[in-house]
Amino acid sequence: MQDESRGLYSLKELDGFPYRYELHMHTAESSKCGVSPAADMVDELKRLGFTGAVITDHFVNGNGRCDRQAPWETQIDQILSGYRAAKKRGDEIGVQILFGWEASIEGKDYLTYGLDEQFLYSHPRLGKMPAREYAELVHEFGGFLIHAHPFRKAWYFPPEHKAELLEGVHDAVEIYNAGNGRQEYNDEAFEYAKAHNSVMTVGSDTHWIESIGAGTMAFPRRAKDIRDLISMIKSRECRMLTTPLDEIRQKK
Ligand SMILES: [Zn+2]
Ligand SMILES: [Zn+2]
Repeated sequence: MQDESRGLYSLKELDGFPYRYELHMHTAESSKCGVSPAADMVDELKRLGFTGAVITDHFVNGNGRCDRQAPWETQIDQILSGYRAAKKRGDEIGVQILFGWEASIEGKDYLTYGLDEQFLYSHPRLGKMPAREYAELVHEFGGFLIHAHPFRKAWYFPPEHKAELLEGVHDAVEIYNAGNGRQEYNDEAFEYAKAHNSVMTVGSDTHWIESIGAGTMAFPRRAKDIRDLISMIKSRECRMLTTPLDEIRQKK
């Protein structure tokens, strides 16, 4: 194993868990920091043997590529464009593309899973809600929140940013984020999740094709849909994989 104490597996340890997914992925279309277009990302997923991915572009309250002065529907169209391009390509070549987004609230980032496009169009206050109100609404509609890289410190966080987790807001904690600048941010996230017995995930937080595959999850079966994927995460029917990037690409 990559790290037995944390339950982190390597790419060679997929026995019983052959279906791999990226859980944290951005596109150039909908994230300002995104570099590779969605279709190229999906092509790379296919080449690397992934079953699928959840597209988690930044939202209107984060680094989403959208015009904040435009009507709400237009902003959502822009936020969805990366997902839609990924889904189209995924349908063509057989990569399962699932929908999510990354909301940024009070300097904290929440991967939001399990809700549909209509949910976004019908809630024009979504980008302005404080974390607890946001979480209540998401949970009321059956959604799932992963607190992404909770202990990351970065230049783009607002001055009021505190590295803290709000109990009752998140449903899972991202204990390894390949985009974290320092290992200690992952260490702190793991220690927190362990102490709270939180459900854990890992994510590549990939913004370009070269970093696809750094932190991914493996499952015993193909997810029927995003809710099914959530249920496997919740019941811990999954494996967390961390892989040095050169190793992933050597394999192919
Ligand atoms: Zn980003
Ligand atoms: Zn992200």
